[in-house]
Amino acid sequence: MTPERAAYDVAILGGGPAGSAAALSLVQVRPDLRVVLVEASAFDGWRIGETLAPGGRRILEGLGCWPAVVDAGAVESHGTVASWGSEEPYENDFLFSARGTGWHLDRAGFDAALIACVESAGVEVRRGARFAAVAREPDGKWRLAIARGVERREIRSALVIDATGRTAAFASRQGAKRLVDDQLTGVAVLCRFDGSSGTHEARTLVEAQRDGWWYSAAVPGRRAVFAWMSDADLVRQDGLKDRQNWLERLRAAQLTWKRFERCTPDWPVSIWSARSQRLHDVCGEGWIAIGDAASAFDPLSSAGVIKALYTGKLGAFAVLDRLRGLSRGFDRYRRYVEREYAEYRATRARFYGEERRWPGSPFWSRRTD
Ligand SMILES: Cc1cc2nc3c(=O)[nH]c(=O)nc-3n(C[C@H](O)[C@H](O)[C@H](O)COP(=O)(O)OP(=O)(O)OC[C@H]3O[C@@H](n4cnc5c(N)ncnc54)[C@H](O)[C@@H]3O)c2cc1C
Repeated sequence: MTPERAAYDVAILGGGPAGSAAALSLVQVRPDLRVVLVEASAFDGWRIGETLAPGGRRILEGLGCWPAVVDAGAVESHGTVASWGSEEPYENDFLFSARGTGWHLDRAGFDAALIACVESAGVEVRRGARFAAVAREPDGKWRLAIARGVERREIRSALVIDATGRTAAFASRQGAKRLVDDQLTGVAVLCRFDGSSGTHEARTLVEAQRDGWWYSAAVPGRRAVFAWMSDADLVRQDGLKDRQNWLERLRAAQLTWKRFERCTPDWPVSIWSARSQRLHDVCGEGWIAIGDAASAFDPLSSAGVIKALYTGKLGAFAVLDRLRGLSRGFDRYRRYVEREYAEYRATRARFYGEERRWPGSPFWSRRTD
């Protein structure tokens, strides 16, 4: 391990929307803070989670990043069409979320634009650097091992914000337990519309089926994502990681198939964990988890990104309190995440309860019984 003297007030692990919102909120209030953001990727791969719910714009304007997001290609979206509870599709302004205009994002471009915004605000950003190990020093500071390829460096920080997404890489090393509600999995393909195939419908389409549901949503750059959402065991049992099986399943969903027929898929299919979960404890002595690391929602909610942004802000305020020697911020944040997750579960149960066409299906009965 290469020794390094760098010492920080706050180290943020993970540069998704949660990590970026936290970094920006910290330096907006305390520009004097030494903040580092460590991000494993270079934002060069496809990222899922392309619909920004209404309300996202206001948060991003407050963080000073909305122009950068527009430049990265956000496209207005006017809600969702759903075949849910009946074959007849109906208009639904974002299944869980408030009414208004949302946006379709190229998530890699969106996340990269936010990180550039973070850097412009004076935060040190380390891209392609993965948080790999942690130890506590006698003075209570964290010693973090950061890996870049085979090279490892150490940094020291008084406080850590875990924004590593669903893996909660730091919190899990602190023994934080994950409470998991289901095994929802996304099996997704990105599809391109060429010049002759017309523009993809701007609204998200959700189509319920016996063993799960499809969603398709436009992505800037004349592309769309098509994802089959079902439980991990059902995906495995039906071999849906296989292109032919996936296509066959899609053919049975008439509305979604009609959209898909006009585009050229980028194979292979990719698999994403989409289970609902939260940490039993979202903060501990000297650390706090935000975004998906703290709690992760069903994509039906279209709320993951907006939640990442505002828990990033709330987490940052709790950290600012802690830096002033106050513990109330952590306590308040802990209660907030618990209450929000309980409300989310109730809403989710209500939405799944609206689909009663397949009472014998394991997928639906697991969510309604
Ligand atoms: C199939 C599917 C569809 C979805 N659709 C939507 C949608 O339409 N709208 C919506 O709002 N949400 C959607 N979501 C949810 C949304 O993608 C997430 O809620 C959101 O990305 C969470 O943001 P985050 O910053 O907390 O975590 P992430 O976006 O997961 O970011 C975590 C970051 O941490 C980095 N990282 C991980 N480990 C380390 C490490 N050890 N060291 C350093 N960096 C690390 C990662 O590279 C990544 O950049 C969807 C999710 C799925 C699975």
